[in-house]
Amino acid sequence: MSLAEQLDTVTDAAAGTVDRHATTETFESTNPASGAVVGVFPVHDADAVRETVERARAAAQRWAELGFDGRRERLAAYRGYLARRMHELADLVHRENGKPHADAILEITLAIDHLAWAGAHARKTLGPRRVRAGMLAANHAAYLEYQPLGVVGVIGPWNYPVFTPMGSIAYALAAGNAVVFKPSEHTPAVGAWLAAAWRAAVPDVADALQVVTGYGETGAALCRAGVGKLAFTGSAPTGRKVMAACAETLTPVLMELGGKDAMIVDDDADVAAAADAAVWGAMSNAGQTCIGIERVYVSSPVYDRFVAEVTERVQGLRPGSDDEAAYGPMTMASQADVVRRHLDDATSSGGRAVLGGTLDGGFVAPTVLLDVPESSAAVREETFGPTLTITRVRDAEEALERTNATSYGLAGAVFSRSRARAMDLARRMRSGMTSVNSVLTFASVPALPFGGVGESGFGRIHGEDGLKEFTRAKAITRQRYALPVNLMSFTRPPAAADALARVMGVVHGRHR
Ligand code: NAD
Repeated sequence: MSLAEQLDTVTDAAAGTVDRHATTETFESTNPASGAVVGVFPVHDADAVRETVERARAAAQRWAELGFDGRRERLAAYRGYLARRMHELADLVHRENGKPHADAILEITLAIDHLAWAGAHARKTLGPRRVRAGMLAANHAAYLEYQPLGVVGVIGPWNYPVFTPMGSIAYALAAGNAVVFKPSEHTPAVGAWLAAAWRAAVPDVADALQVVTGYGETGAALCRAGVGKLAFTGSAPTGRKVMAACAETLTPVLMELGGKDAMIVDDDADVAAAADAAVWGAMSNAGQTCIGIERVYVSSPVYDRFVAEVTERVQGLRPGSDDEAAYGPMTMASQADVVRRHLDDATSSGGRAVLGGTLDGGFVAPTVLLDVPESSAAVREETFGPTLTITRVRDAEEALERTNATSYGLAGAVFSRSRARAMDLARRMRSGMTSVNSVLTFASVPALPFGGVGESGFGRIHGEDGLKEFTRAKAITRQRYALPVNLMSFTRPPAAADALARVMGVVHGRHR
């Protein structure tokens, strides 16, 4: 299929949800490297969003009735479709988000792996099971199951336009929900492509995954459209607005927000490996990674060696939009302004850029900052650019203290050769996820939950927790036989309460 045909396909796919409802306003998505138009998409208004959610509600019933096996089969067809068209989708991600083709392939691979895990583990995690009824209800059978919520609204960012929303979409679908997805206004073509792929791969329940496109107002309309839950991934300020809109209808929310993740390098660490991981964690995807490494705290004895190893590696990196470039441009022009402000603040408050510190249009040079005070915006706020602050600390304990001194708490990394020490530091790191002797690895383990604490949000995608996040727990008891004395009846004899108190005394009274 030619490029022009592909673009027509994605644009038509987004319009597919709206041509049944008149919306005239449109917006363009552009290639951040060249400014070329990638596609033109409808701005879905509140009525169009509501209609889409209603169509999804009808599909949700059919989707839920398919059961775990029927859904697993169809989720497999979807991932098969994505895998067969991997390069086509990667090309679209490259053009619309700016990241290198190889990084787009990696991102899509992760999303496919999560789809496979969610489909394969939904029954075991959510299916009906019997639980012990306990002493007081010994004559009853007790059942637990996790039921779908109906329609889940997903609002996504632009930095990982496939992997990030799929963390909610795959798990919500596997749990038996239909999904209405509002991609970022910076990556609507990728969102529309994902929905068009669903329609093609799962034609019998095509409306179980639909896309609405537009700006923040479209997202706000989705919050108010009667969805069973709203899964939001984006910045903390927008997260607050989403929560406020959802509060109007008591719609529950999942918040996957930003971070200011740190790496701790202990004095016994493999310094070269730590440097290599820090550079990837900070610079890949132009630093536009929620779980990217933005700060490194290095034990004094290995600080100089670590800085030298990082510097050597960063010198070899070049931003660009060609296949050999290490990373692409900032996807969003305004993000370059944030990076510039953080660089200015870092250098004017005593820090120095040993490498980089410059911007060329949307391309930010890979930047290594030393001696930046902890009060600087470059240390306190999410930068979301290819920058890294490296700070010398007394030891790993001080590193942990500084790591945790942030309002964010998404993820982080620890480098140490001592397993016990590294695990202890990882446990005490105030974050939802930590990698030991690597960066970002937890995101590629589908069985592990993903989510933050504090300003990084709450709730979890991925793993069993991620499946349960998109369900409601349902409890059922069934009386198997009646007891001669029913304590929850006005017919109970007066002595029954005393007898119960005596039993409790025997069973629990001995514990002090
Ligand atoms: P953003 O908050 O600007 O936008 C996110 C989405 O919210 C977009 O689709 C946008 O259109 C929509 N939106 C904007 N205003 C809205 C409103 N009032 N109501 C409803 N929806 C609204 O974030 P972004 O710039 O697209 O993404 C970058 C941020 O996302 C960073 O902070 C990054 O750390 C975070 N992020 C977090 C995770 C995670 O899993 N924790 C993953 C990726 C990105």
